[in-house]
Amino acid sequence: MFDISFLYEAKDVKDAIKKLVENESSEIVSGGTDVLIRVREGKDAGMGLVSIHNVSELKGIKLENDGSIVIGAGTTFYDVTNNEIIRKNILSLAEAADTVGGPQIRQVATIGGNICNGATSADTASTLVALDADIVLEGPKGERIVNIKDFYTGPGKTVRERCEICKCFRIKKENYENYYGYYFKYGKRKSLEIATLGCSVLVKLNSAKDTIENVKIAYGVASPTPSRAKSAEDFAKGKRVDDKSLLDTFAEKALSDMKPRDSWRASKEFREQLIKEMAKRSLVNSIRRAGGKIEYYV
Ligand SMILES: Cc1cc2nc3c(=O)[nH]c(=O)nc-3n(C[C@H](O)[C@H](O)[C@H](O)COP(=O)(O)OP(=O)(O)OC[C@H]3O[C@@H](n4cnc5c(N)ncnc54)[C@H](O)[C@@H]3O)c2cc1C
Repeated sequence: MFDISFLYEAKDVKDAIKKLVENESSEIVSGGTDVLIRVREGKDAGMGLVSIHNVSELKGIKLENDGSIVIGAGTTFYDVTNNEIIRKNILSLAEAADTVGGPQIRQVATIGGNICNGATSADTASTLVALDADIVLEGPKGERIVNIKDFYTGPGKTVRERCEICKCFRIKKENYENYYGYYFKYGKRKSLEIATLGCSVLVKLNSAKDTIENVKIAYGVASPTPSRAKSAEDFAKGKRVDDKSLLDTFAEKALSDMKPRDSWRASKEFREQLIKEMAKRSLVNSIRRAGGKIEYYV
């Protein structure tokens, strides 16, 4: 039995907001794979749950006329991974979604829940940060758009207010077009494992495929919140892919941007090593996917 005061099935977003406003001690539940564990552990015991699980306006993925890709917050990881628009344009996000938990979790857990729980370990967070996604929130005062770089305020904390519902993520065309990416999750097991570290890279090469036109790199669990390594990005822009100093310096710069810490999963020193190694491997894989050749790295 779960210790909750009520479970309300919202009809739509406005109905969910109304119920949240009426009940101060209530929270949103979507797939429930975080919330129900918190309830069972006693952390959220006695809360009322406003379910958006069956709200159809929050589900699905579409390509808008201006080329933006819009991902409904209620879309499950299974649907993100298997969606044609995502697979064709942002393969690294499809892959990141496919690393979450195991098959049962991915059938029910949502991308909205993954971002709104505020966890730095959330597997889709680093890729959405690299993609510079906009987050569309709706609350009692109406709708607002927050860029993902301004969304996280600390471990498990975001700017989202209790009665605000995350409706969708919007990825502008210029942030994915001609980019090729790779998501690297390090964990001790291959499934049912929270990331010890996650790294997502997106790279755009010039037409000759020998020079990096632009690169974005974002980590999870390398800092209190999912974050970009801007000095690594600035360093790599304009560099030739066959420059033998590229990978080591890129990795060193990425490390200088991060603030890893000790946890029961891994020491700070081990995470520092992962930050560098994962930067190199993710950049190499992204460059190769983009059609570039790096022959000196095996
Ligand atoms: C066995 C197991 C393995 C797991 N493995 C992984 C893993 O490998 N990687 C990983 O990243 N996570 C993992 N998780 C955590 C969890 O599955 C994910 O964070 C998932 O994305 C949560 O989505 P949900 O829809 O179940 O969220 P819920 O549990 O329903 O909600 C999570 C939080 O977000 C809020 N919320 C949800 N949707 C919205 C919305 N649309 N608007 C506003 N607030 C919202 C809720 O109020 C709550 O605070 C695992 C969980 C379990 C139980």
